[in-house]
This record gives sequence, structure tokens and C-alpha cells, in this order.
Amino acid sequence: MAWTRGLVRVGVHRSTLFDVLHDALVDEGIPILTGTTISGSRLETKGRRIIFESGGASEPYDLVIDALGTRSLLAEPCGRELAYGALWATLDWPHGAGFDLAALQQRYQRSKIMIGLLPIGIGRSGQSKAAFFWSLKCDQLDQWRAAGLDAWKADVRSLWWEMDPVLDQIIDAEQLTFARYSHRTLRRSAEPALIHLGDAWHSASPQLGQGANMAMLDAWSLARALERSANMDEALRVAVKMRRRHIQLYQWLTAIFTPVYQSDSRVLPFLRDRIVGPLSKIWPATWIQAAMVSGLIGNPLPGLGLDAGCRAP
Ligand SMILES: Cc1cc2nc3c(=O)[nH]c(=O)nc-3n(C[C@H](O)[C@H](O)[C@H](O)COP(=O)(O)OP(=O)(O)OC[C@H]3O[C@@H](n4cnc5c(N)ncnc54)[C@H](O)[C@@H]3O)c2cc1C
Repeated sequence: MAWTRGLVRVGVHRSTLFDVLHDALVDEGIPILTGTTISGSRLETKGRRIIFESGGASEPYDLVIDALGTRSLLAEPCGRELAYGALWATLDWPHGAGFDLAALQQRYQRSKIMIGLLPIGIGRSGQSKAAFFWSLKCDQLDQWRAAGLDAWKADVRSLWWEMDPVLDQIIDAEQLTFARYSHRTLRRSAEPALIHLGDAWHSASPQLGQGANMAMLDAWSLARALERSANMDEALRVAVKMRRRHIQLYQWLTAIFTPVYQSDSRVLPFLRDRIVGPLSKIWPATWIQAAMVSGLIGNPLPGLGLDAGCRAP
């Protein structure tokens, strides 16, 4: 959690967020279809149908909301895959090992190696959880697998020996999920009876940790636009307009910052460690950083009828 002038930033595990959204769907009595892959959509006079990979299609809907993520089959391919991804694992928080339960802790070797431990709240078991990550180039994944877990753990320990209680929880390479990142923003985020939200509209590396925030603000804006507009076309135009500027700003900021943390550059990490790092401890840099990783740069909330406590007035 980062405090700045009365604001608090809270890390929320994605499964917690999923549960909240899932419970809301159940409460509304909205039917849920699982185990079905969507392969496309088709616009007809009566509305838009969702096409299923197994064959067949849904009934026609007034609006299809594409929340299929960065590789959505409902959106045109665009953007670029990044050279660096990361191995991720969700583990128990290593209590007593000297890590700060209220901060993201990271170690770097230039920008080629990045190790991180992020507190992500309390899991269903009641135990504090941690996300552990290790940056890795996509084209080195096979080499990493071939080298085996013990060789990798030795590398991690040589850079950060306090990671022992974290590494001890990883006994199988399958516990680590390799995430590939891409930077992409759809040129057209709404089409007749179809809107792309969240990562389906815009995705980036998670360096600023804004993907889930952005997706929820997109959904909030769509809900408000639907309430206010006379027809669907207008609602989609309004929803896109409400979000476009903030999304563009964060896509741009993330593209600028990503190579500072994950790249082959020698200059950027030097500037990060020798100039930006020390300066970042001094106001107003502290405030700017806190605002950036809270998604608040560009002051997006008032235009959506929200305040920084995310209350609707
Ligand atoms: C490693 C990693 C770390 C991240 N860390 C952060 C962070 O700290 N903070 C943050 O805010 N964001 C973070 N993000 C980004 C965040 O996870 C995403 O921005 C967010 O999940 C986007 O939500 P979404 O609902 O748009 O898409 P997703 O969460 O990707 O959901 C898409 C869903 O659609 C399903 N789907 C996809 N294709 C099909 C299909 N054809 N048919 C049927 N179903 C399909 C998928 O299975 C998935 O359930 C991180 C991302 C990664 C990869």
C-alpha cells in the first residue's frame, strides 16, 4: 500500500476481483456459459451473435461486450509482442524473512534481470499471499526449462539470498507461469453492437500495474454511457470518448517505462539507478510516482463521475 496525501493504493489479488464480479453476476441471475471458446461474432439485422468454436452461435444481442483479453478473437490483431515476459508464481507470503508486507520489492541487474516480490492480499485460506516474478526473454524460455529449477534457483539466490523461503515453495517448474506481454491499442474500440473493453481494447506490460484498473474503468464508463444515451450507437461513442484520453496516456507511459525495467539497454538502467532513483525519493517525484501507479495521472476520475475514493458523488 502506498500512502500519499490521504490516498491509499490497495493491491487486490485477481481471484478476489473475479469473485466480486462473479458474485454480482450470480446475484443478477445472469446465465453463465463455461467451457466454451468464442471464435468470432456476426452482425445481423436483429443484433450481433457470438460464434462458438464448437459450431453454432448465440441468439442475437443488442450489444456484445468483448472482454476476451489481449488475444481476443473478436478484435483485429494489432500492436506488438514484447521481447521480455516474466515467470510468475502465487505463493504464501514469507513471514519472518524481512520482506515488507506493504511494498513491492525488486532487485535488478541492469534491465536484463528483474526479480520481484509483491504482496497481493489474503487468499481464501486466510494466508497472506505473494506474487513472485522473474523477468525472462521469450526466446530464452526453452533454455530456462532445459537448465532446470535448481540452476535457476542458484541464480536467484546469488542475487537475493533472502529469497530462500520463497524459492523453497517452488518445487516444480509448473508452478511458474510464463506471461508474454504485448503493447497494443485497437484503432476502433467500438463497432455496431460490439465494444472491446479492458485488455481486448488496450494492453501493455504490467510495469505500472494498471490493467485491471483500466478494465474496470472501461466497464464503469460503458455502464454510465448506456444509462445516459438515447441509443446504442451513441452509448458506445460516449463510452469510448470517456476513456480514450486516459488510455492513450497510460499506453504511452507504459511504453516509455517498460524498457527501463525490461530491456537490453545499458543506458536506461544507469539513468534509473543513478539519477531517477535518488530523485524519486524527493517531493513532488514521490507524489507523481504514487499517482502513476494508482492510475491517477491525467485525472481520469472526475470525468467518469468518480472521486479518488472511487465513490460516485
Ligand atoms: C503477469 C501479469 C501481471 C499483471 N499484473 C497486473 C497488476 O499488478 N495490476 C493490474 O492492474 N494488472 C496487471 N496485469 C494486467 C491484468 O491482468 C489485465 O490487464 C486484466 O486481467 C485485463 O482484464 P480483462 O478482463 O480485460 O482480460 P483478462 O483478464 O485477460 O480476461 C479475459 C478472459 O477471456 C477468456 N478468453 C480469452 N479468449 C477467449 C475465447 N476465445 N473464448 C472464451 N474465453 C476466452 C480468458 O480465458 C480470460 O478469462 C498483469 C498481467 C499479467 C499477464
